[in-house]
Amino acid sequence: MKELEEKIVQAESLEALEKVRVELFGKKGVLAAEFARMKDIPGPEKKAFAEGLNTTKAALQESFDTRYEALKAEEIENLLKAEAIDVSMYGNRVQKGALHPVMETMDKIIDYFVALNFAVESGPMVEDDFHNFEALNLPKYHPARDMQDTFYFGDGSLLRTHTSPVQIRTMMETKPPIRMIAPGSVFRRDYDLTHTPMFHQVEGLVVDEKGKISFANLKAILTDFLRYMFGDVEVRFRPSFFPFTEPSAEVDISCIFCEGEGCRVCSQTGWLEVLGCGIVDPNVFKAVGYENVSGYAFGLGVERFAMLMHKIPDLRSLFEGDIRLLEQFR
Ligand SMILES: [Zn+2]
Repeated sequence: MKELEEKIVQAESLEALEKVRVELFGKKGVLAAEFARMKDIPGPEKKAFAEGLNTTKAALQESFDTRYEALKAEEIENLLKAEAIDVSMYGNRVQKGALHPVMETMDKIIDYFVALNFAVESGPMVEDDFHNFEALNLPKYHPARDMQDTFYFGDGSLLRTHTSPVQIRTMMETKPPIRMIAPGSVFRRDYDLTHTPMFHQVEGLVVDEKGKISFANLKAILTDFLRYMFGDVEVRFRPSFFPFTEPSAEVDISCIFCEGEGCRVCSQTGWLEVLGCGIVDPNVFKAVGYENVSGYAFGLGVERFAMLMHKIPDLRSLFEGDIRLLEQFR
């Protein structure tokens, strides 16, 4: 009896206790065996034997129940401990992402022109001489090629220096009228405060029957676009030169930092140059086989827009991936 009780008390877990239960109370257990012996006990002693056995059984049962309760409580406590939540502990903070300022600016530009029913076109970044230069009225040895420091591959292909080849590809694949923009990355061998080897442009092209498209159309749409991007600014067009447009113009907005008073950013001029544009040069149409059409084109640097809109002083900081800078644009 003492021995059996020891077994119960020493069971360290519910599983161990269950084994003891089967050993004691089971059909083939110790107690069952004792009760089975009853039939061999002579009549007069039977009663005392049975009483003794029942007392033992009850005592064991009680020990068992006590041990069971204790182990069960222990298990629950362990479970609670394991699953406990320390409300004072720091959690894993979910990092909120945001668009890169360049992409955000690009999206804003695209939104404007898509709303005016411009198609968004794209083309390869590795281009050939024809699409990047020749068809854009930049024949070999043309001095204007020096304006764009080009990355060349050994086979004569190159990294596009502007998104203009997308205009050429689109014109060669479709018939006028065309109303498109080409946003994308472009590449030039240049690196300083205002230049990076890779940057983004958005170019626009509108082509229709001869006489339908004029410089007035171009002026109207760009003025409206620049006010959409920069708010209530003055817009001025200055004569300029680009090989693929004639006449050409550079477009300035009144300085958004000093409102035209003159400051460091605008070099005391009160104006900020933001894009280039012009009437498509007839040689460009000739290169793609278009006849009796007229059109205008414009191009802008997305980084320059982003820098002006967010007052970022160094272009390179846009590409250094410094999280402290990017976090400011959440
Ligand atoms: Zn200024």
